Amino acid sequence: MTTIINTHTHGDHTGSNEGFPATVDILAHENTKANMVKMDAFKGDKAQFLPKRTYKDKMSVGSGKDRVDLYYFGAGHTNGDTWVVYPALRVLQTGDMFAWRDAPTIDRNNGGSGVDYPKTLSKAVAGINNVDVVIPGHSPVTTFKDLQEYQRFMADWVAAVQSAAAAGKSVDDAAASIDLTSKYPGYKNERAKAAITAIYAELKK
Ligand SMILES: [Zn+2]
Repeated sequence: MTTIINTHTHGDHTGSNEGFPATVDILAHENTKANMVKMDAFKGDKAQFLPKRTYKDKMSVGSGKDRVDLYYFGAGHTNGDTWVVYPALRVLQTGDMFAWRDAPTIDRNNGGSGVDYPKTLSKAVAGINNVDVVIPGHSPVTTFKDLQEYQRFMADWVAAVQSAAAAGKSVDDAAASIDLTSKYPGYKNERAKAAITAIYAELKK
């Protein structure tokens, strides 16, 4: 074990850094490192477990069959979400940019954006090639086609939230009236309210 990639700042994706020896290389997007610096979990002596190397748009580590490509496509879940591609395996890890088939968590305190989320997903779908298998942040292994579907879901869902806001609907009314589960079979509608609250706050700025 030589390398850890922190896909984003949240404790369930960074909290085990301290369990590994100091020789391990820890990588993250530059905004994620900046977010991690603010966490109590990385203050004082624990600062040694912060990412040692960061990148802005793309970084590759390893070579040949072991090459791993890290991409940043913009804000969504946070402002530092890394997409991890294993080209030889045709596998992609999405972190929490694609966590489950439902509205996402939008962490505005760490730069997340519901408004930008669909655009960021579009860039990822267009910018990542030759992947078959997708490992979402918090749900079972799936396919690249399912990531493409998630991009379409998020484009439709965020547009519906923006229309509800423009029509003057409250968060509760928007949550009660927006349901895309019949258009997107297998999707749930359990996490909408928190995400709508985040998008409304973002639209007010
Ligand atoms: Zn997360």
